[in-house]
Amino acid sequence: MSVRVRFAPSPTGPLHIGGVRTALYNFLFAKKSGGKFILRIEDTDQSRYVPDAEDYINSTLKWLNLLPDEGPSSGGAYGPYRQSERKSVYQDFAIKLIESGNAYYAFDTSEELELMRTDLKAKGSEVQQYNYVTRGGMKNSLSMSDKEINQQLEQPHVIRLKVPENDDISFKDLIRGEISFDTSNLEDKILIKSDGLPTYHMANVIDDYLMKITHVIRGEEWLPSTPIHVLLYKCFNWQQYMPQFVHLPLLLKPEGSGKLSKRDSDKHGFPIFPLDWTDNITRELSEGFKEKGFLPEALVNFLALLGWNPGTEQEIFSVEELIKGFSIERISKAGIKFDIKKAEWFNQHYIREIEDSELTKILIDQAEKEGFIINKDKADKIVTLFKERITYTKDLFSKGKIFFTVPVVYDEKVTRKKWTSENIEMLAEFKSKIDNIEDLSGPSVNSILENITNAKNGSIGKIMQPLRFALTGEAGGPDLMEIISL
Ligand code: GLU
Repeated sequence: MSVRVRFAPSPTGPLHIGGVRTALYNFLFAKKSGGKFILRIEDTDQSRYVPDAEDYINSTLKWLNLLPDEGPSSGGAYGPYRQSERKSVYQDFAIKLIESGNAYYAFDTSEELELMRTDLKAKGSEVQQYNYVTRGGMKNSLSMSDKEINQQLEQPHVIRLKVPENDDISFKDLIRGEISFDTSNLEDKILIKSDGLPTYHMANVIDDYLMKITHVIRGEEWLPSTPIHVLLYKCFNWQQYMPQFVHLPLLLKPEGSGKLSKRDSDKHGFPIFPLDWTDNITRELSEGFKEKGFLPEALVNFLALLGWNPGTEQEIFSVEELIKGFSIERISKAGIKFDIKKAEWFNQHYIREIEDSELTKILIDQAEKEGFIINKDKADKIVTLFKERITYTKDLFSKGKIFFTVPVVYDEKVTRKKWTSENIEMLAEFKSKIDNIEDLSGPSVNSILENITNAKNGSIGKIMQPLRFALTGEAGGPDLMEIISL
């Protein structure tokens, strides 16, 4: 059977970086196996639907070149690939479950559900859920006469899964091994909501079945839902078509414990979304990895190693190498600490791989946007000077701008130590000397500085830092003589 995997995001907000990793692992596994990578938009929760979120998913996959073989835009033989367009499909399957005795209609109001929970709590019951214990006392098609049911069906209602008592169900997760559960702990989950749309569980399982998905590769947060899914395969009698499950380890906070969240990104100032995202209610802008200056190759390489380990020391991987080396067996079970420094390290690496001529173009563009026209020759020299020192391509301008602007901020600590009257005098002398000479090459500047410092009984080393500081406002950077000649 040929491999078919799906990335199934819900358009409820911007895609989180963990979701991007899920997409990447699905993509790598599909390509490695000569299979298909499918995008399915799980948009059945109308109350959480965010209009721009689907476009955002598409733009992200495009930016990272993780293009789906089938999906809402690319089409395919198993569409439509947007769940909101498949409403009738789920209804029909829900009716089948009712007919086979595995599901039932429920008519309880939210007040009645609340009452059931408070009653159970008052009686000291640890779990307060709609299940084999409580369903008999609730308003549903199992407890009512046909006449009552027919009347109630005119009103808003849901369809619930009739979870059996004390059934032992198990499945194999390719990372975590055999997992068993007792159905007595599960709730009679809603399959079809009162708006007629399916819940996540129902739509997800039916679509995986209809789209002939062979492997469900998703984040660990979905592991608790899997028992319900396995049970649904059983109720439909589809066990032989059940996909293999692969639950990816969580991405953890930089400190190492707890799930990585937007709060960590705000706290540490690193991106958590692939692209810029403006919250549609608060209008808050979150800078994306792309806009921060990450290259797609760097982000892909970084994410690939955030959970998968090649079994060698190799860290730099092209996409082709990732596809070749990828295997589910080498995905870790334990959560992975999110280390933005490592992402930056990859970015630095991939920036060094860019042709100098390309970086020159980038710098000229950046400078132009900031209102500076620089010629190619000068831009080339700036690129040579800074290429090894930048993390993002936009640093070319932010660092290179010392050549077009005078420094306006200074490191106070350095000023205090180096801005002595003797140094100021020497710098003034240096300035008056270079005003009159043409040759600003290293040796020429060096001999001017030597003459000045010798006359003051000092060494040239003493004047270097104040001079760098006067020119650039910074205490460190590329070779000072090269800065001066440029
Ligand atoms: N719609 C779910 C999500 O938002 C899909 C989980 C799954 O892959 O089954 O991630």
